[in-house]
Amino acid sequence: MTAIDTSLQICEDCDTVYRRRALARGEVARCVRCGAELERHHRLGVDALLALVLTAMIVFVQANIWPIVTLGLNGQQVSSRLWGVIATMWRDRAPVVAVLAAATLFFFPVLRMLLLGLVLVHARRGRRGPGFREAMVALHYLRPWTMSEVFVMGALVAIVKAHMYFEVTANAGIYAYGALMLLVTVFSGVDLRRLWDLTAEPAR
Ligand SMILES: [Zn+2]
Repeated sequence: MTAIDTSLQICEDCDTVYRRRALARGEVARCVRCGAELERHHRLGVDALLALVLTAMIVFVQANIWPIVTLGLNGQQVSSRLWGVIATMWRDRAPVVAVLAAATLFFFPVLRMLLLGLVLVHARRGRRGPGFREAMVALHYLRPWTMSEVFVMGALVAIVKAHMYFEVTANAGIYAYGALMLLVTVFSGVDLRRLWDLTAEPAR
């Protein structure tokens, strides 16, 4: 390890400095002054996280290839994929919604999975790859901007409502998004800040 002192930690919200202690299983350390979370016990190792990221990538590809819903009206069947829905919103003069949907459902998740994968591949060997610092900062800011859970809930509500007018069939794509939603929930519980402690600066 380098000379960085990892026995101290600082509350990100109020800058109080604490001496770090080992946490028990499932334990969460909180700031005494402001109640912000300092650190939580690490259940998933780097290898497990990398496996989760790879799984999420595979599920993500499926969620984008497979149709989400099939609408039937007067004997005609129309299936929609995510990009079909986004293109329809763009044409229907809702470009802001279309851009937001493309960003939060496609581009931000892709960026997040790639950055996390890159960081973890190097972290497995206890190293920081090129761009580690930038990737960690980007991951911090991307975190609230991946909204597959909102999308799945919205899509389910839309499917139930559309059922009154059309024949609606939920397709495999929506289940893939459901699986992705579960994976994202697991990720949200992971404190990525510990990757700073698990890795060393590359030797110059
Ligand atoms: Zn605090």
